[in-house]
Amino acid sequence: ATERTALFMFFGGTGDLAYRKLYPSLFNLYRKGNLRSHFAVIGTSRQTLDDEKFRAAIKKSLADSGERADSKEASDFISHFYYQAHDVTDTAHYSVLKELADKLDKKYKLQGNRIFYLSMAPQFFGTIAQDLRSQGLMSDNKDAFNRLVIEKPFGRDFDSAKQLNDALSKSFDEEQIFRIDHYLGKEMIQNIEALRFGNTLVESLWNNRYIDNIQVTLSEKLGVEERASYYDNSGALRDMVQNHIMQIVSLLAMEQPVAFTDTDIRAEKVKALRSLRVYNVADAATNFVRGQYGSINDQADYRHEDNVPHDSTTETFVAGKLLFDNYRWSGTPFYIRTGKMLADKFTRVDVVFKKPLVDIFAFPQAPNAPLAANVLTIFVEPHAGFSLQLNAKTNDATFQTEPIKLDYLVDAEKSKETPEPYERLLHDVMKGDGTNFSSWPEVSYAWKFVDQIRRVWDLQEPQFPNYTPHSMGPAAAEELIQRDHRQWVYRL
Ligand code: NAD
Repeated sequence: ATERTALFMFFGGTGDLAYRKLYPSLFNLYRKGNLRSHFAVIGTSRQTLDDEKFRAAIKKSLADSGERADSKEASDFISHFYYQAHDVTDTAHYSVLKELADKLDKKYKLQGNRIFYLSMAPQFFGTIAQDLRSQGLMSDNKDAFNRLVIEKPFGRDFDSAKQLNDALSKSFDEEQIFRIDHYLGKEMIQNIEALRFGNTLVESLWNNRYIDNIQVTLSEKLGVEERASYYDNSGALRDMVQNHIMQIVSLLAMEQPVAFTDTDIRAEKVKALRSLRVYNVADAATNFVRGQYGSINDQADYRHEDNVPHDSTTETFVAGKLLFDNYRWSGTPFYIRTGKMLADKFTRVDVVFKKPLVDIFAFPQAPNAPLAANVLTIFVEPHAGFSLQLNAKTNDATFQTEPIKLDYLVDAEKSKETPEPYERLLHDVMKGDGTNFSSWPEVSYAWKFVDQIRRVWDLQEPQFPNYTPHSMGPAAAEELIQRDHRQWVYRL
């Protein structure tokens, strides 16, 4: 591991995300030698705390995530943590932060490298970015870096996202901004590129001549839980489709990048998103369906969850068909779906190949079941791996074909070693590698696509609730794909 030098400043440093994900991930980077002695962490939030109490909270955060928080290693790590109470809306407070930052920079010989991580409500992102610059928190050492990491959501439509981006751009250049999409930190999402561009067998067939359709499913088993007040303002389309699903789809659809670098990969993803067909009103209405879960037994329907209005029209499920107008994909749809309170918790991609043009086994003398399509499944979670479904002869005297599967599943031992998305992404920020972050053009094309669906939905009152908990969504999601004489590969 290469040792990196940086001051980390976590805004919202006492929040749920920081304690649950960010600090344990940073500890893992430390354990693996990516951080040694030249780093310091400032946690800041409105809460009043001193260093000692903050360090106790960090220790608890490590313990809660299963680390040995009593070890010397952990206490050495924790000794690099400092706390400063700060109201981000009060410009005068920034000078206190600056003083502490400069002091720690000297103490730990940080060479002016700074990472500002905004892990709080997005309404503050713009103000913070502006004050970081105006109040002199960004280091002016010309060999040093200043990087801004921001959490989702990035706006709630194109206009608000642009406004936010304009605000950030006043202080930071695009290559200094790291927009988190933690799906891009997942092992099997990163594996899409290896699978495609590392295998002739795959990439040579990766187009509309051989692929019939591609299906992306992000299925959640739980309902809205404690996030109701946030979620009800957002809904599945904004919360899952605009970011995670669009990112996965662009990795599946893009052309081969010139080189495996962030600039080249982003350029191809943007190109793919530019050729995604933005629907007119009629097409948006036919190609997208929404759902909201009803009740079952003692499970309340969405409208009776805590903090959800009884007349909420927020969708907890989306399914849709995406079409790319380009040479590679014209005529091959991408079907996507995501929702809460579905049958199971998993993320997978199913690539359905076309059947052989002629089925020579379907001869009348020995009727054989029609050949099944080849399907390549990418299992993202909970299990990581691939499965390739082929046709083979049954092991008997007749000549019948049957689908068989070639499976590669990452074993449990190995998956324990797999870095968590946040560990990977923090590491990338330290390296200055933007590959697994959403660039502004990607975000803006994704919003323009999604806004069009939203616009159509907002014209009409939905018939909610419309799906049973533990199903795979409303009947309309089945009709959407059956209309095209296809079906979901994963179904109940
Ligand atoms: P949280 O509510 O737990 O924490 C918010 C933090 O901001 C707290 O430390 C609070 O003290 C601080 N804060 C609030 N107002 C402040 C002010 N005026 N000045 C200074 N500090 C202030 O939130 P969270 O769940 O940790 O989420 C943080 C961000 O991460 C959000 O953008 C959220 O959308 C995103 N996110 C969270 C999760 C998650 O699992 N929690 C997942 C994905 C994205």
